[in-house]
Amino acid sequence: MPSYSPHGLALLRDPLLNKGTAFTEQERDALGLRGFLPAGVLSMQAQVERVLTNLRSLPSDLEKYVALNSLHDRNEALFFRVVCDHINEIQPLIYTPTVGLACQRYGLIFQRPRGLFISANDRGRIAEILSNWPYRTKLIVVTDGERILGLGDLGANGMGIPVGKLSLYSACAGIHPELCLPVMLDVGTNNEEFLNDPYYIGLRQKRMTGADYDEFVDEFITAAREAFPGVLIQFEDFANHSAFRLLHKYRDDACVFNDDIQGTAAVALAGLFSALRATRGKLTEQRILFLGAGEAATGIADLVVSAMMAEGLSETEALRRNWLVDSRGLVVKGRANLSGHKLRYAQDQAPINDFLSAIKALKPTAIIGVAAVGGAFTPEVLQTMAELNERPIVFALSNPTSKAECSAEDAYRHTGGRALFACGSPYDPVKFDGQTFVPRQGNNSYIFPGVGLGVIASGSRLVTDEMFMAAAHSLANSVSEADLKQGSLYPALPRIREVSAQIAAAVAGVAYQRGLAHGPTPNDLISFVQAQMYDPHY
Ligand code: NAD
Repeated sequence: MPSYSPHGLALLRDPLLNKGTAFTEQERDALGLRGFLPAGVLSMQAQVERVLTNLRSLPSDLEKYVALNSLHDRNEALFFRVVCDHINEIQPLIYTPTVGLACQRYGLIFQRPRGLFISANDRGRIAEILSNWPYRTKLIVVTDGERILGLGDLGANGMGIPVGKLSLYSACAGIHPELCLPVMLDVGTNNEEFLNDPYYIGLRQKRMTGADYDEFVDEFITAAREAFPGVLIQFEDFANHSAFRLLHKYRDDACVFNDDIQGTAAVALAGLFSALRATRGKLTEQRILFLGAGEAATGIADLVVSAMMAEGLSETEALRRNWLVDSRGLVVKGRANLSGHKLRYAQDQAPINDFLSAIKALKPTAIIGVAAVGGAFTPEVLQTMAELNERPIVFALSNPTSKAECSAEDAYRHTGGRALFACGSPYDPVKFDGQTFVPRQGNNSYIFPGVGLGVIASGSRLVTDEMFMAAAHSLANSVSEADLKQGSLYPALPRIREVSAQIAAAVAGVAYQRGLAHGPTPNDLISFVQAQMYDPHY
């Protein structure tokens, strides 16, 4: 809670303290609220129901997004109560897929600032800007808006992503909202449409690049670590050429991670572990073909390779079981101009130009779509996977929905209901051949909140790959037999706070074991992390 204590109208306008119509009669007298509120006193539960009734009457998801944001700006506890108690309904509205559309329209819907916009013009005074932030901060999500979801360069409009993501940290893992700071590093945009849009909210110039860019980011990281000692910084939606570089530059010294690379990796690995529970197969026996060779694909492949090695394969053997296809075909040795992050996966193999031919040649047990190419898992791709495998593993992880490689219905229909399917966008249950399948989203939101909580709770100095592997095991272990029976590779979202606590305990366990944490190891890690979780109430 904030250390100040506003009174009267100022209190009603303070989202951290406002309870709106739930202020009691006594509070109304004591806090100078008489006259500002109508006579009726509502319980928080009644307020939640009123919010939902209003929300459900709105015609579009974007309007619901705006309504939820303005609730967040008015009454933070009520906003989080609504999100926590109705996570299935609300998460797609405050995060993917709706947040993608919201970012595209951010110039039109921007109302109140949330977090800090730091622009290229602020070079040399970033520490001063951070000192304007009134709350003690333990978690920053930062983006430069260059690669927002699968939507490309959205410049300063990308701020919707750190804002949405931090809401999920608070809702899904109980990290107190006051500890969370969204940051937009506005280095310009190369999005011509935005540069010509009179309502564009960002810096109207082409992106800063090269040494200038690196110095700007470095000034931010240094200033943030000084302003908020021990702060966890999560890189979000940076383009490939910055994402890998920044992660490698800072990960060994600072408490940072990149969710697009490492969080995605852990959620996908957890999906594989769950699928293998259903097939009773071994990770070390899988052949995995990725469509895409970007942050998600190489992040997942790196963690899968580490997990295969942890289960006994050599690095060479593990690499030979992970293949990437990008826009120019199979990633193979000798291909000109392969970017650094793909080199590890350049296989000794003749070039193959298209995905279907690669499937026929390599006979994968699993395909993972992370190329943001909508419809790329064609009926023929799915039928071929079903011919090759009794239970083909099919992960169509790209989002938003328009970019999904295939729908859940297609995945089941074209594999005769045998696919072990995970998706990046929400799909309704599918009825096929007398069975109802409940596909669940391989959404990073199963992983990053718990990882963040574990790191913050333990005060870990670093975020390591071992923590993501522990998180993946923990997530897969939380999937019940009943989930697996109905085709769900992830637990039901309403269990997310319990799942996040387990993940946080596993992550904190690694931090203590590796000497990265503060103080002695707590006896009961679950109770230790649970005691630090924010539960929104008045
Ligand atoms: P990225 O830009 O880093 O990578 C995209 C990759 O796709 C690049 O390697 C590119 O070469 C490749 N590609 C482009 N066109 C192609 C084509 N026609 N055929 C084959 N490959 C092609 O992006 P990313 O961060 O890796 O994300 C990719 C997608 O995965 C996005 O839609 C993103 O939203 C989604 N994603 C989902 C989750 C999740 O939780 N479900 C997590 C992370 C990313």
